[in-house]
Amino acid sequence: MSENVTIQALGEIFQQHQTFALMSHVRPDGDAIGSVLGLGLALEAMGKTVHYWNEDGLPDNLAFLPQSDKIKRPPAEPIAIDVAIALDTATKVRLGESNLHAASLAPLWVNIDHHISNPRYGDMNFVDATSPATGQIVYEIIQELGLSLPVGSRDAIYVAVSTDTGSFQYESTTANTYRMAADLVDRGLLVGEINAKTYDNHPYRRIELMRELLNTLELKADGKIAHWEMLDATREQLALQPEDSEGLIDMIRAIQGVQVAVFFEELPGGKIRVSMRSKDRSLNVCDVASFFGGGGHALAAGIRMSGPLADAKQKVLDSLQQALDTTNS
Ligand code: AMP
Ligand code: MN
Ligand code: MN
Repeated sequence: MSENVTIQALGEIFQQHQTFALMSHVRPDGDAIGSVLGLGLALEAMGKTVHYWNEDGLPDNLAFLPQSDKIKRPPAEPIAIDVAIALDTATKVRLGESNLHAASLAPLWVNIDHHISNPRYGDMNFVDATSPATGQIVYEIIQELGLSLPVGSRDAIYVAVSTDTGSFQYESTTANTYRMAADLVDRGLLVGEINAKTYDNHPYRRIELMRELLNTLELKADGKIAHWEMLDATREQLALQPEDSEGLIDMIRAIQGVQVAVFFEELPGGKIRVSMRSKDRSLNVCDVASFFGGGGHALAAGIRMSGPLADAKQKVLDSLQQALDTTNS
């Protein structure tokens, strides 16, 4: 496994090259979009040419971020770039096929991430699994290199870290996270406004989805496992966007006595997306996800696996039950 490069070495790459493509994982969340925008706008402030690509484009719920319209789907054919940078992306394939094709001429790949399961697929890797969000790593890189931090980077980094820490609540949140947030506020970030745009502006269909999900909610293992599910038909009925389910799992994770929450989602085409949240490090959901080819963090992990839904549910729930038995024995 290759070692992390130093932040200084990253700084040299930024200095020496001109054209960068910044990418993050499919179905992007706040950290995926925020860390790409946060670093990209800082590179542009250095006079660099930056492409901002996401396989699925910019989700509507993050369109409030300044200059987020720079985030595009990748071009259909490869273009000449000096450096490809993957951010917040646990495995290279999670960038998506179009991204990989568009960036296939890149002579140098940089991998900046905080997933413990990251296999360090870059030519240069900077993977810090102790960081609560890739956005915080981007902030530390910008600070340590003494780069200027444009307003767009400031807001993007804040949203990246806020969304990945459950609004600065999860145990991954450190003193450095709060110091970073304080610095961003000192730089003029409007906390009330940005949090309202991030958390108090949901489309009605998201609440309708919540109602559907609640109707499927079940507890297992003496109330230690809570799970719910979404059928493909529901996506069509409610005209759902991928981001509409983001964060809803926290509601069932919060049930008293629940140790692990699971969300099963039927994807168009028959694959199943599984999202897991644990309350306790002794039940490591990244290990369970890795067993099925997924990954993530100890307390938050995901899988894309074959269906049908009933089979995927049984396999994952059995595996979690086993993990619980080991943990509690
Ligand atoms: P999610 O449940 O989709 O919010 O994902 C939880 C965490 O696991 C995030 O940090 C994801 O990036 C990561 N993750 C989700 N799905 C996968 C997967 N199929 N492979 C690797 N990591 C994943
Ligand atoms: Mn992410
Ligand atoms: Mn992240």
